[in-house]
Amino acid sequence: MVEDRFQACNSEMHSQIELYEHSIVEFHDTLSKLIEESEKRSLENFTGNMPSELWSKISLLIDGWLLEKKIAYNDASMLREMVRKRDSRLREAYLSYRGTENRDVMDSFLKMALPGTSSGLHIAHIAAEMAPVAKVGGLADVISGLGKALQKKGHLVEIILPKYDCMQVDQVSNLKVLDVLVQSYFEGNMFNNKIWTGTVEGLPVYFIEPQHPAMFFSRAQYYGEHDDFKRFAYFSRAALELLYQSGKKVDIIHCHDWQTAFVAPLYWDVYANLGFNSARICFTCHNFEYQGTAPARDLAWCGLDVEHLDRPDRMRDNSHGRINAVKGAIVYSNIVTTVSPTYALEVRSEGGRGLQDTLKVHSRKFLGILNGIDTDTWNPSTDRYLKVQYNAKDLQGKAANKAALREQLNLASAYPSQPLVGCITRLVAQKGVHLIRHAIYKTAELGGQFVLLGSSPVPEIQREFEGIADHFQNNNNIRLILKYDDALSHCIYAASDMFIVPSIFEPCGLTQMIAMRYGSVPIVRKTGGLNDR
Ligand code: ADP
Repeated sequence: MVEDRFQACNSEMHSQIELYEHSIVEFHDTLSKLIEESEKRSLENFTGNMPSELWSKISLLIDGWLLEKKIAYNDASMLREMVRKRDSRLREAYLSYRGTENRDVMDSFLKMALPGTSSGLHIAHIAAEMAPVAKVGGLADVISGLGKALQKKGHLVEIILPKYDCMQVDQVSNLKVLDVLVQSYFEGNMFNNKIWTGTVEGLPVYFIEPQHPAMFFSRAQYYGEHDDFKRFAYFSRAALELLYQSGKKVDIIHCHDWQTAFVAPLYWDVYANLGFNSARICFTCHNFEYQGTAPARDLAWCGLDVEHLDRPDRMRDNSHGRINAVKGAIVYSNIVTTVSPTYALEVRSEGGRGLQDTLKVHSRKFLGILNGIDTDTWNPSTDRYLKVQYNAKDLQGKAANKAALREQLNLASAYPSQPLVGCITRLVAQKGVHLIRHAIYKTAELGGQFVLLGSSPVPEIQREFEGIADHFQNNNNIRLILKYDDALSHCIYAASDMFIVPSIFEPCGLTQMIAMRYGSVPIVRKTGGLNDR
């Protein structure tokens, strides 16, 4: 029955997916072209970003009214369509009423709402990270970069995130809590969720704050908790509940990695039966190393049917008796993507970490699309973190940034041309930590300079690199900064002459692209997305 439903949905979905793929593919432009276009783009930013922020605010306002049941679903749809079309009447009304009663703005909007036809898609991303507000790695960059690219193409994009206590709230504009609580199911009970809204990078974002005694997202870190499976199963359910209760007719629900993989089976097995079935599900796996497994009974927490799903052709892991969230998303999504064509090939064999057979069974809906970078965030000609801005045609500024970084980190500065090698990474086995260690010692031996910015969730690796940092403490050519620091990362990309990415496997990797954008030569192992870029 499940398979039949998918077949019907898949064919119906085909044209929408094609449109979506095009949007993604177009976003992944070649880097050299992007470097040349950087100045043009920064001008576009100047004229383009501000209005998109404004439209996101208007869109959040409308969605808030709908959730708070102040306006009818049809009115909200018409208003959203006007937002998508950037109808200047809405903008003018919003600007003229700013600072006055919400009621006046609402009345004025409702007078304008007229039936219209829609051509763009309504896309909701449900994710555990988004740059710069909640970033651990590349997933965060992709959520904001892809969201912005799709928004620029005329689609209505929104993001749903957990409201982490440790997120960078200063990166959210207009953060406010809605005057409504969304109830969602977990472990046999209903729990209230506070819903916060705000804009990040010009995109409308919903933050879910569960009113659950376990305080799932008040843990002072994003991942690494003993109950991560529970935390994100809860979030996936609450995010779908938010979409369902808002009455929106979303076209695409895009979920990412194991943390939101539960969305796919929940959507088809629970929500589609409630009539919430306008959307089709896209699942992107950014790294098959992390699959989210647990004892089968734990699936029931978020309301999934264990008996129905604990089967080899559904969610049961291929090598042990547990259930596997990523496998569930592969089986249940309408389209499954990963982040580079080479990695998409690699995961069909050992790279699939046990899911290769599942990917083979579902190969018709599985493809690799190369990630790009957000060229507004990563732009040396506008980057506010740099000492001096520069561009591909005039690299003078690189020398000034190199001098500034040397001074900041107390590195030797007698020889401007002494090469500086950079490395910015999570320190995990995948990233080739033994090769990074080797490169540090080799660079020291050859008389170069090396700057590593990274931290590790693995205590032994963190300790090992602390040992290396101590070893080079009095060497003014080597610095290891073992923490997460966004501002410093920009300075290192700009200051370095070379950049190493010696990953053992790499689904896509963004740092090699950012390095190129900042005129630093990447030195990489030929694997996954490093091969494609
Ligand atoms: P992954 O997602 O596997 O961590 P990616 O290369 O796809 O690797 O993305 C890494 C992103 O995280 C880049 O934007 C990089 O600049 C950033 N990053 C990694 N480590 C740090 C750190 N210690 N401080 C600041 N930014 C970091």
